[in-house]
Amino acid sequence: MQSGIGQGAGRLESFDVIVAGLGAMGSATVDHLARRGAKVLGIDPFDVPHDAGSSGGETRLIRKAYFEHPDYVPLLARAYENWLSLEAEVGEQLLYRTGTVYIGDPDGELIRGSRLAADEHDLPLVALDDRALADVHPFLRCPEGYAALFEPDAGFLLCERAIAAQVRRASSHGATLLSGERLVRFSSTGGDAGVEVVTERRTVRAGALVVTTGSWAPALLASLGLSLRVTRQPLFWLPAPAGFELGSVPCWAVQRPEAPGLFYGFPALSDGLGSNAGIKLAHHHPGEVADPDAPRLPATARELASLLGAVAPFLPALAGPALRSKVCLYTNTPDGHFVVDRHPGQRGVVFACGFSGHGFKFASVMGEALADLALEGHSDLPIGFLGLR
Ligand SMILES: Cc1cc2nc3c(=O)[nH]c(=O)nc-3n(C[C@H](O)[C@H](O)[C@H](O)COP(=O)(O)OP(=O)(O)OC[C@H]3O[C@@H](n4cnc5c(N)ncnc54)[C@H](O)[C@@H]3O)c2cc1C
Repeated sequence: MQSGIGQGAGRLESFDVIVAGLGAMGSATVDHLARRGAKVLGIDPFDVPHDAGSSGGETRLIRKAYFEHPDYVPLLARAYENWLSLEAEVGEQLLYRTGTVYIGDPDGELIRGSRLAADEHDLPLVALDDRALADVHPFLRCPEGYAALFEPDAGFLLCERAIAAQVRRASSHGATLLSGERLVRFSSTGGDAGVEVVTERRTVRAGALVVTTGSWAPALLASLGLSLRVTRQPLFWLPAPAGFELGSVPCWAVQRPEAPGLFYGFPALSDGLGSNAGIKLAHHHPGEVADPDAPRLPATARELASLLGAVAPFLPALAGPALRSKVCLYTNTPDGHFVVDRHPGQRGVVFACGFSGHGFKFASVMGEALADLALEGHSDLPIGFLGLR
């Protein structure tokens, strides 16, 4: 996949903004900055996109009836707009509005929270009885005591392709993007002189620095005392029974009262969209603590068995063995909400971290907000509830 990213060489002069980390959030940020005419440098130790952090595995759910908190909904509305304009400009579909079915305890967080967000923001969200559920997703079951909802605007994003598209657009607007380059330390030079950024290869100056280093943020932002916890998150691709193809079924998410988090899955993608045949299945809940620099332990048969056991009452057609698996990383805050702000002790430094396993869908709007913070010192986007305070 073309990312438009280069290997660092030669001397680099100073920049308006340096963005450290070109995953979901950083690639969106360099894109917004470059399109506003800023002189921007983006750096990442890996070739972009890659699957060493939080943004691998082909697909990410996107939805608007946000059970986590209705305050996210205006940001999501803007995120959708930004994804659509990116698609239009790069000429590639990145967002698939398959709709998503939510099944859970009628009084549980998923059903209650989705309804609350939909009511507050007047979003389409349809209650499904057994018959309607069978029409929408013939393989899903809503056991006794559960409720089912359908959000037609929800669906999924192709995550690596979205990052590649953001990086391509940033490059085409003049951003300098370097792989093989790691932010080692930074310091505000005080006053209006900006920020001095030290990588393994050079020292560079910029008016502002944006730190979007995902699971590597806890060490770089330790002075903020944020209590970020990096965890290991297995993903599985299962054999797809006939009828599970994209276009035939929506995405789905299930919450069980006796188990933490959400179990969720996607339609099976065709060869042209991803390298993985099969249905992607995962558990949205912080897993075991992980070191992002340590070798990644592969997903296990036990993890798959426990996942299949949890979803069996809802999707009895799913079965192993898995065709493929992968392990990604979450960076969790104690309350699961993101932290996006200016660094209180380092003038000119802006950061976004702690996306707690649900940040990807927001990348296109986070990039806009981070570009605002870096260039203007504030953003009109409603990100106040994600600030350090
Ligand atoms: C299994 C799984 C499933 C998920 N499902 C969903 C979903 O369905 N919907 C959703 O919205 N979200 C989902 N998420 C969450 C979402 O993917 C993340 O919130 C998002 O990808 C985080 O983006 P990021 O830019 O913070 O991190 P990343 O994309 O990991 O980017 C961080 C970047 O920083 C770079 N870096 C590291 N150290 C340095 C350094 N010192 N200097 C410079 N660069 C550095 C890394 O190489 C990396 O490229 C999921 C996450 C996982 C793991």
